[in-house]
Formats: sequence, C-alpha cells, structure tokens
Amino acid sequence: PSRTDITYFGAGPALLPTDTLEEAAKALLNYNGTGLGIAEHSHRSALAADIINQAKADLASCLDIPDDYEVLFMQGGGTGQFSAAVYNFVGAWVARKYKEIFGDIKGDPADHPELIQQLKQAVDNDLKIDYLVTGGWSQKASAEGERLLGSKHINIAVDARKANGGKFGTIPDESTWKLSENAALVYFCSNETVDGVEFPAFPKSLEPGPDGKGPIVVADMSSNILTRKIPVRNFSAIFFGAQKNLGMTGITVVVIKKSFLPPTISQPSVALMRSLALPVPPIIFQYETIAKNNSLYNTLSIFDVYVAGQVLKKLLRTYPNKVGGQEAVTDEKARLIYDAVEAFPEIYKIIPDKAVRSRVNICFRVTKGDDTDAAEKAFLEEGTAQGLTGLKGHRSLGGIRASNYNSIPLEGAEKFARFIRAFATS
Ligand code: PLP
Repeated sequence: PSRTDITYFGAGPALLPTDTLEEAAKALLNYNGTGLGIAEHSHRSALAADIINQAKADLASCLDIPDDYEVLFMQGGGTGQFSAAVYNFVGAWVARKYKEIFGDIKGDPADHPELIQQLKQAVDNDLKIDYLVTGGWSQKASAEGERLLGSKHINIAVDARKANGGKFGTIPDESTWKLSENAALVYFCSNETVDGVEFPAFPKSLEPGPDGKGPIVVADMSSNILTRKIPVRNFSAIFFGAQKNLGMTGITVVVIKKSFLPPTISQPSVALMRSLALPVPPIIFQYETIAKNNSLYNTLSIFDVYVAGQVLKKLLRTYPNKVGGQEAVTDEKARLIYDAVEAFPEIYKIIPDKAVRSRVNICFRVTKGDDTDAAEKAFLEEGTAQGLTGLKGHRSLGGIRASNYNSIPLEGAEKFARFIRAFATS
C-alpha cells in the first residue's frame, strides 16, 4: 500500500504530515541551496542555531510558554527524563536546604562538619519525591526514581491500581492522595499511553496558591503534548519525546522554569552531593548545562529539530487559536470514536473510567461472541484490510488501542468510527 491508503493509529512513533516529510527529504539532500544536507551541517553553525531558536519560539507560541521558562532539546527520550528529573530536582532541593542551613557561610562546606551533619539529617528525614502512579509509564518513572535514590526517598502518593482490583484505569479522588510536605518534586504522567488514562485537568491539590507558590510539579506529556492547552505556570517542568505529536524520534523536549536554572539555584557541587550519598547527574542530563549551551552542549540532531519546527509552523498556520484549535479537533476525533464504541455495549468494552479516559490513546476490548481473542483478531484483520492499521493494544494488555495523535486527520477518525459500527453489526 502507499501512505495515502493508510490511517495509522500506532502509539508512537506516529505518522508525520506527508508534505512535511517531502520538504524534509529535500532538505536532507540540499538544505536551502547550501549544497549540504541539513543533517550534514555543523550543529555549531548559525543555520543550526536559527533552526533551534525558531523551533523554541514556535513551541512557546503554540503552548503559551511564559518568558520565565526555558525550552531545552535533549536526547535519551522520555525515559531519559525519568532519570534527569530526579537528578536535577533533587539537586535543587539540596541547594535550597543548603542555603537554609549554611546561610551566608562561604568557602568549602567540608569545613563545617556540624552543618553538613545537619544537612545529611535533613536529607535522611525529609527528602522525598512524590509519584502519582496512574499507569505503566508513571510506574516506570517511579521505579527509576527508586533505583537512583533508594526507596526511603520515594513516596507513592497514590497508586491507582490499589482501589481498582490491581489494574490501572482510574484516577483515585485527590482527597486520598498522600502528598509529602516540601517534596523535591511531585511527578505525574498527564496521559498514560499504555493504559489510556488521561488527567482531565491539572490536579486541584497541586495548584499554586494565591501567592503563586505551590508544589514543584513535573509532568510527562510524551503522548498528549500539543493536543490541548496547558497551564504551563503550574509546572516546574514538562517533558516529552518528539515522536508522537511533534516530530521524529530522536529529540526530547524539556520546558523548565528558569528559576530552576542558575543563577537562582545552582547545582550543588559534586563533592557535596557525594558527601550526602546522593547521585550526581551525568553531564548531558544536567539541565543547567544544556540551558547554558542553548541545547548544544554536544552534537544534537538538527534534522530532528528542523522537522519538529516544521510541524509547529504547520500547526500555527492551520489553527489561528494555536493549540486550542488542535485541542478542538482532537476532542472531536475522540468523540467520534468513543461514540461509535459506546453505541454497542454488548460488542465493545472501554477499559478506563469514563471520567479519565484518554482522548489520545483510546483503549477498548472487543467482546463480540464468546471468544475475545478471536473477535479482536478479526477486528484487527478487517481493519487492516481497510487501511486502518496500528490498532493492536500494548503487548502487556492486549485489546485495541487507537492512538489519536495530531497526524490522524478528522476523516481518519470518521473512517475508523464507521468501521467500528460496521464491524459491530456485521
Ligand atoms: N512516557 C510516556 C507517556 C510514553 O508514552 C513513552 C513512550 O511511549 C515514554 C514515556 C518513553 O519514551 P521514550 O521511548 O522516548 O523513552
């Protein structure tokens, strides 16, 4: 088949707009008449800096990112950020405690063993990362936090499986969350790609107070970035891999509040972190280093940034209301698909709770007849024959998963909805 025959619902990497890829193919051979392909130009060239700066500006415009936030392009995927968030925000927590305990004392901290002891005690007793575990990805992130820091510093503020028979699919009421005081960060995954669970809005209990102060919140938006408006100010950091709604696999974006970068809060010294038995970030995961170098501390794939930039330009051209326009389309596509599924409750069963089901990863079972496996196999085969592909659920869960990313056109969702109805009545 050709590209135009297929609507691909895979969970990521996702489809990219064909016109963007056609332009990118030309740019790979000869970028802007320079005779060199874009992937061959130096990442230190003015041309590379322009591509980075333009992509940053367009992302800021799409998402209304305030001026006191920085955009970083990194490598290592969303998974790399499970680690990076821990290193950097634990560093920032220690820097704050250090300031509290050492005040204006300058010089080598090791000259003040009693103060170091006090700091050590604070770390032992109070250093916590809070995780809201609502699906496979936040669970993985919490496991990485535990691997890096040890379990005594990890607080699972909520585990959605507990009140749901051991399975993900709900977000327990906020009144049941056990948040720590002054956590180094509160972590959540805004859309659980595997389980089809999405936070319908920013959690009330994590909102900043009237003074603008609130918990330090870090969110994984790998699968729903650029599908809805987000209150960026409520977050200290947001991260996402490019490969679902922004561009190609290969770059990871971090949007971080500048107050977590120097000079306000510097990373504690390596010696201090060692004396506290806390991990020191690998240099490429240190936000400060990446920010200081405008994401060019080491060789970055400028091609990937270029593709992301083109996708952002297209979004800005298509929707005067920027990501608000994309959100309306995402909601409409999700509504079409869920309506079709819900019209046949004896044939299809949606897995997550209605209140938290994802607009982006739509997960359901096909229970037509007695044999679910056979029914799902038939659903997938018949779908594929009609050009509806990538619908198989995650290997850990089975079932059907339709990933409704930005590259799925409205007509693709309509076609899928028609197929769902036809399959149910055939
Ligand atoms: N977080 C979420 C929500 C994801 O969906 C994924 C990948 O699908 C990841 C993290 C891991 O991202 P990566 O494969 O870029 O490390």
